Amino acid sequence: MKNSFKYIGGLVVCLIIGLFLIFQLPYQKILISFLNVGQGDSILIRTPDDYTVLIDGGPSASVLDELGQIVPIYNRTIDLIILSHPHADHVNGLVEVVKRFKVEKVLIVGTPYNNAFYQEFLRVINRDGISLNIAQANNDIKLGNYVFIDVVWPINSLVGKHFENVNNASLSVRVLFEGHSVMLSGDAEIEQEHEIIESGFDLSADIYKAGHHGSRTASSEEFLEKVEPEIAVIQSGIENSFEHPHKETLKKFRERNIEVRRNDLEGRVDFIFSL
Ligand SMILES: [Zn+2]
Repeated sequence: MKNSFKYIGGLVVCLIIGLFLIFQLPYQKILISFLNVGQGDSILIRTPDDYTVLIDGGPSASVLDELGQIVPIYNRTIDLIILSHPHADHVNGLVEVVKRFKVEKVLIVGTPYNNAFYQEFLRVINRDGISLNIAQANNDIKLGNYVFIDVVWPINSLVGKHFENVNNASLSVRVLFEGHSVMLSGDAEIEQEHEIIESGFDLSADIYKAGHHGSRTASSEEFLEKVEPEIAVIQSGIENSFEHPHKETLKKFRERNIEVRRNDLEGRVDFIFSL
């Protein structure tokens, strides 16, 4: 009898240690996940001090399935949402995210754009009293102990400023943490990439989210020269109608020995950095 008590006691201790490890392990690392949302952008960052950042939400509510696989069930808070620009393949999925998660803060460029999902996104933010912030280069964001989000474009607020091509109003950030950096320039095309370079900020990054889904309209030689990434991640959908990524872009990456990771070929692309 005594022995079986010892045995059960031992099992319980193992179980508690096991559960502790399961829940604790993710917090020893920083996770950057390029979510598999089809033809669109969505990037999730999770930090050891339990901060969650979501940059864009892809074209549909499928982002919720991806979040469900990564964010622990007990965590319904997203500390920061960054919307690069209000095109459907970046904002539409965010509508369900702001409705279902407790969102602390949202960062946008504020350029006017006629998209019903974007209007709904703003309506829910307003209704729920979520902190809405307009991106400017001097408004960088520090999140907890590990993550610094350096806004590299726009320099000044774009509120009320119309863009014929909203791709070129893409909020661009360099995410810095523990000696690593990630460059995210939304769908910025070559003209905007030039402006980002003109801003004079350090753009170097280990990981570069290929601009505009790997389109030939982005990832100019001069931009790649500044970012100098080791890895480029292309967020494009299987057999998308734009034929992203374009072969010219893939060739540039190949010539520069940049490793290419692709959502359309691999599904979700995760990077885990140990502290
Ligand atoms: Zn896009």
